Amino acid sequence: MSNVKRVLIVGGGVGGLTAATAFAQRGVEVLLIERRLAFDVPGVGLGQPANALRIYDALGVLPEILASGFAYDRMWIFDPNRELIVEHKFLMGDDRVPAVCALSRLRLHEILLAAATRAGVTACTGVTVTHIDDGGDRATVTFSDGRTETFDLVAGFDGIRSTTRAHLFGTAFVPRPSGYGGWRVQVPRRDCVRGMEFLQGIGSKTGAMPLADDLMYMFHIRPEAPDAVFPREHYAALFRQRLAGYGSYVAEVAAAQYVWPTPFKLEMKVCGHPDASWEDKTHLLTVCYEEARDFAELYRAYGAMPLDVPNGKSAPPADKKRKSRT
Ligand SMILES: Cc1cc2nc3c(=O)[nH]c(=O)nc-3n(C[C@H](O)[C@H](O)[C@H](O)COP(=O)(O)OP(=O)(O)OC[C@H]3O[C@@H](n4cnc5c(N)ncnc54)[C@H](O)[C@@H]3O)c2cc1C
Repeated sequence: MSNVKRVLIVGGGVGGLTAATAFAQRGVEVLLIERRLAFDVPGVGLGQPANALRIYDALGVLPEILASGFAYDRMWIFDPNRELIVEHKFLMGDDRVPAVCALSRLRLHEILLAAATRAGVTACTGVTVTHIDDGGDRATVTFSDGRTETFDLVAGFDGIRSTTRAHLFGTAFVPRPSGYGGWRVQVPRRDCVRGMEFLQGIGSKTGAMPLADDLMYMFHIRPEAPDAVFPREHYAALFRQRLAGYGSYVAEVAAAQYVWPTPFKLEMKVCGHPDASWEDKTHLLTVCYEEARDFAELYRAYGAMPLDVPNGKSAPPADKKRKSRT
């Protein structure tokens, strides 16, 4: 790592911003490029388990994350009418770091982008890589705006359809549709929702995650045609139709005609693998802490400068890598 003076980070999502900040905080010159024209991240909310929170702690942004989000240590599985089936307590937290803190994706992005900027990262939006010439010790990269620059390290954090990964592995890890679609909407938090919860229906599941004292997101996961495209103006009716059969606050939300004060937001994604663990754990846990951890492992692999992860007791051992994205 001591030979790495200049790094290109491709992708300004959670992983890219985390990596960029940590490199820059250690004196490495970092250029981060993001394909989108702005950091207006799509998505609704993210639950960040203690593993991720410890990485954020190392970057100095934990207090902001905890102040913005909703900390919890339980997950519940209910029947469709919210009669309890299972309560599960997460054990990864400690006095400093809660087991999970969930927050709005946009807010997490704002926090990470501000940290990257403070650390001196140069961020360019609306730019992609068109060519990488791997010269062994250094890589010469051509960008979509015509510039050519040289880096000691190129790190791809460009998501599920990573072109950086394609540069190395060709089509070996192209995502495939899982056959499931996810419907999500932000609504005012119901008092009863104090952690991640699932209402297990027949052939589908619904649930909620608190994102702040006054906000939660509600999701619905069900089989959808891989090529399904729904007109935006039908989202509300389709969502309501899909929620028929669920009781409790799900029925209230479905009946509410969407008059709540936060803007109506709903996304339909028919996607392959949001990430390997999503698939692995049959939708019960999703973990972009793994992106943060990938970064930590990348950093350790390069050796010289350790990443101090406060109380990393639950950091998985290096040989327990996640499944590859096949
Ligand atoms: C419905 C859903 C719910 C989820 N819930 C959770 C959760 O609760 N907790 C959790 O931990 N994880 C969750 N995840 C997983 C989490 O979203 C991902 O693990 C995480 O976003 C991956 O981070 P990343 O930075 O690697 O990629 P991304 O977040 O996908 O970011 C990639 C970035 O790279 C940019 N990009 C793409 N291609 C290029 C290119 N060629 N050049 C430049 N930039 C490019 C993209 O615009 C994007 O900004 C969820 C995923 C889904 C789909």
